[in-house]
Amino acid sequence: LLIDNQESGYQFYSDEANKHLKEKLELQQDLRKALGNGQFHLVYQPQVDGIAKRVCGAEALLRWTHPEKGFVSPAVFIPLAEESGLMVEIGTCVLREACKQSVIWKSQGVEKLTISVNISGKQFRSEDFLGTVKSVLAETQAVPEMIMLEITESLAMSDVDKTVELLADLRALGLEVSVDDFGTGYSSLSYLKDFPIDELKIDKAFVDGLPNNKGDQAIASAIVTMAKKLGYKIVAEGVEELPQVDYLNALGCDLIQGYYFSKPLQPDDFLKYYFELESNQEIA
Ligand code: C2E
Ligand code: MG
Ligand code: MG
Ligand code: MG
Repeated sequence: LLIDNQESGYQFYSDEANKHLKEKLELQQDLRKALGNGQFHLVYQPQVDGIAKRVCGAEALLRWTHPEKGFVSPAVFIPLAEESGLMVEIGTCVLREACKQSVIWKSQGVEKLTISVNISGKQFRSEDFLGTVKSVLAETQAVPEMIMLEITESLAMSDVDKTVELLADLRALGLEVSVDDFGTGYSSLSYLKDFPIDELKIDKAFVDGLPNNKGDQAIASAIVTMAKKLGYKIVAEGVEELPQVDYLNALGCDLIQGYYFSKPLQPDDFLKYYFELESNQEIA
């Protein structure tokens, strides 16, 4: 079909596509080595009670320092890990690390903190996810009540019966469950009421337009009202400005996560931030 490929857009496109594919395959190769070479670490973003001004939660977020490229976004490497079958192994390491961190922080006097861990689709649907979670808890001696698993809305909806059963089993262990990126998927609200979950996270997409955008106001307030009626905690993600905090507090949103309070932090910095807010409590 490509007779005159010298000048043709197709040839150009295919060079670009080849280059892209080659880069992708290289990154996947590098990912394979990353686990064994200590190139991964977790950072923790505070989730703050916007009224009491207390840190009540931490979302564990994975960071990869590539030996040549340096920072590679999880938005890039998580999908690659999913595709290449590495995500289950990486995800187990993330869960183990977060559980270990919970034990350390507990021993350092942190009380009533929940660490949220993102669980990918492949991981959640993997062979014996429940068994893996059980053995990580046993191995690390983490208190299950300190750990929350985040699954995305679209994952939860992809096989409702199985999801409900597995979530119920996980909660029976004492873990909490959160639905991430809420509002961006295609949730059927009738399913939502039957999900054994503890928390909904309003996606940044709806927080961005607050406090002024009428559409985002309507969506955010509807999500908060519904979550409260169903008995779920509600977290707003990607909160960057004080007027957004004020608006979400007024709606009754339980927790605020975003750059307004803090970026994701290294464990030591997280601990400092946690106690900084606690010490303000005593002054107030
Ligand atoms: P997510 O779970 O929705 O995490 C929230 C993302 O929003 C994080 O990006 C966080 O750094 C970012 N963020 C928080 N507050 C703000 C803000 O105020 N402004 C802006 N612009 N961004 C904010 P991050 O760390 O780049 O992670 C991106 C996504 O990668 C996560 O989205 C999650 O889906 C995935 N991810 C990260 N770590 C893991 C992991 O350990 N396992 C799995 N399966 N996925 C992960
Ligand atoms: Mg998340
Ligand atoms: Mg999210
Ligand atoms: Mg997101």
